[in-house]
Amino acid sequence: MSKVLVIGAGGVSSVAVHKMAQNPDIFSHISLASRTVGKCDAIAESVKARTGVTVDTYEIDAENIPALSALIRKIGPKLVVNLALPYQDLAIMEACLATGVHYLDTANYEPRHEAKFEYHWQWALHDRFKEKGLMALLGSGFDPGVTSVFAMWLKKHKLKTIRTLDILDCNGGDHGQAFATNFNPEINIREVTAPARHWLNGAWVETPGLTIRENFDFEAVGPKNMYLMYHEELESLAKFIPEMERARFWMTFGDAYIQHLTVLQNVGMTRIDPVIYEGREIVPLQFLKAVLPEPSSLGSTTRGKTNIGDIATGQALDGSGEKTFYISQICDHEEAFAETGNQAISYTTGVPAMIGAAMMLSGEWQGEGVFNMEEFDPDPFMAMLNAHGLPWTVKELAGPLEF
Ligand code: NDP
Repeated sequence: MSKVLVIGAGGVSSVAVHKMAQNPDIFSHISLASRTVGKCDAIAESVKARTGVTVDTYEIDAENIPALSALIRKIGPKLVVNLALPYQDLAIMEACLATGVHYLDTANYEPRHEAKFEYHWQWALHDRFKEKGLMALLGSGFDPGVTSVFAMWLKKHKLKTIRTLDILDCNGGDHGQAFATNFNPEINIREVTAPARHWLNGAWVETPGLTIRENFDFEAVGPKNMYLMYHEELESLAKFIPEMERARFWMTFGDAYIQHLTVLQNVGMTRIDPVIYEGREIVPLQFLKAVLPEPSSLGSTTRGKTNIGDIATGQALDGSGEKTFYISQICDHEEAFAETGNQAISYTTGVPAMIGAAMMLSGEWQGEGVFNMEEFDPDPFMAMLNAHGLPWTVKELAGPLEF
């Protein structure tokens, strides 16, 4: 029985809070704070209507460390679940250190003026969390999050070593809009337009963004073009599975998405450096975000499924030579919307955020310091995925990927 404070009131937060409310034995009291309190109130209202649970709401600028620390002290949670934006990670971690509260997030820190997805800023806080006897769990979403737990489950139950790992992220959903992103547009476009990077024989190989493409037939979705990208879990996977020769991340995009993005890039609308417009500074990507549909508004119109998983090749645990396994999860946009009022991208991130929080609060996962998902026993997390809306399957493939 534990009090939890969730920060941020977007789609991911909405799912996580609904899921926490469905598990009152673990989350005895939920507080929700964000920059716009009206968004917290709307989530609280939906949670009340669907589950009968009351969620307290507060307005906070999470980058104001003294104000956030005061709010944490007032509420007295055991854990702060950061579902705001990556820009706020370090400030929220500082507030947790100042108030003696555990921390969890779903995306690693990013500086505002450089699209850099690296863990080193947060890993640097390890000793300070350890000294205070506190735990911080980084990246407890789907990717990063479940994709790392999938890899560790394969290492525990199927493969002694992993030689190659491919993460395949397919969103087969159609929202009926000409162009929209399925999570925060600013963060999404920064991620997608960054150079691609993959791990090869102990070093990072960088290639221009959205240039390496493969076609893959996804179960429940069908054939889709997917593009090589950099994604933050590659960094922690390379660290915690040191024998890996190659690790890659792929994401599917339709031709219309690529076309729109190419035009927006060519005309400078995805720039993250400020430009002067009518005498004041604006960041083109932030302006673009303001005119694009809010991801949370896409839920009611999105049809189709997501299919996200890992394909790993390595030496089998039972000594039977090299084997390849594909472990994946399929989520239906309409079912996700019916349950929580949010589409599957928010759902597949919010559920693992709730599960990571449950792991920490129940003591199934514990430690002092800053941790990644790869450092804990995957079994209890995988069991909760099955029980809380994200069932997964594993199958053996005939051989490694041909590309
Ligand atoms: P949204 O943009 O929908 O929600 C973000 C929320 O954070 C908004 O409510 C916003 O407030 C709030 N916020 C922003 N700045 C502040 C601040 N300074 N203080 C307090 N609140 C603030 O994003 P999503 O719900 O789509 O994503 C949430 C997080 O999940 C992001 O970090 C994203 O990168 C991550 N994510 C992770 C995935 C994974 O698989 N690991 C997948 C998808 C997302 P306001 O409403 O006022 O703008």
